[in-house]
Amino acid sequence: MENFLLSNGVPMPKIGLGVYQVKEDQEDAIIWALQHGYRRIDTAALYHNEQMVADAIKQSGLKREDVFITTKLWNSDHGREKTLAAFEKSLARLDTDYADLYLIHWPSAHYVESWQAITELYNKGRIRAAGVANFTQKQLEELDRHSDLVPMVDQVQTNPYIQQRGLHRYLTDHQIQHEAWGPFGHGNQNLFRQPYLMELAAKYKKTTAQVILHWNLQRDIAIIPKSVHPDRLQENLDVFDFMLDDQEMDQIASLDKHGRHFVDPENKLFLWLSSFIH
Ligand code: NAD
Repeated sequence: MENFLLSNGVPMPKIGLGVYQVKEDQEDAIIWALQHGYRRIDTAALYHNEQMVADAIKQSGLKREDVFITTKLWNSDHGREKTLAAFEKSLARLDTDYADLYLIHWPSAHYVESWQAITELYNKGRIRAAGVANFTQKQLEELDRHSDLVPMVDQVQTNPYIQQRGLHRYLTDHQIQHEAWGPFGHGNQNLFRQPYLMELAAKYKKTTAQVILHWNLQRDIAIIPKSVHPDRLQENLDVFDFMLDDQEMDQIASLDKHGRHFVDPENKLFLWLSSFIH
């Protein structure tokens, strides 16, 4: 597995397995993935499957240090004390004494205090890398005004319909690794039937899913596609053996709808309401 080097020198596998909505009876899929090349798992307190991830790693036969684990602070746990407590609970469920990457899941109120707590964890060596998810440029700038630690990752919704080009430039300029969540638009945005992506898939003898994943990697964006099917898990790793040319990259750029399939991270009502979800 190839790596991206984070700004602090920590290598992060370019492809990870997203486990949002992976249920207890689907643990075998995680074990299979780890035994067939995946070395990074993207979970979160909200996904209620950190324990299963820990168990799958044990059952895979890999050592803890062979797997890069990302987990996330949920919206109900913002603020210094709550962040520190939530982190310990995540580690207990993951049965480990460190996280490779700890992210603020959404920029809820008090994210500055939460980031200060995460900075403490980072300085104590409890997390190898610290980052955020769903942060806009404005929110990253706000964080920057209050902290010396620049996030190493921003995990945001990114796919050919939501390309995040402005944010991507900002992230690149600040050495923040762009990571795409929902690279397939959750499989329900008709991306797999997009005619130009299908044309490229035929040209390179790949699937549309592989073209989408490769396009992200060619933009230096890390990916965490989710699947529980061995054939798709395998397919989603097999994306390194072709290159899109400049004209093809430009044409995919023109597919951008500049929209979102999910809420605006600056929507205060959503952020407030989501803090009641556990
Ligand atoms: P996704 O875009 O990865 O789509 C997943 C769906 O695509 C699967 O359920 C399946 O139906 C389909 N699929 C997967 N591989 C395929 C293939 N090769 N061919 C055809 N169909 C295929 O959606 P996602 O799960 O929402 O996002 C991926 C990961 O991102 C999550 O599991 C989670 O870890 C992370 N995530 C983070 C946030 C956040 O707020 N930070 C939000 C959502 C998801």
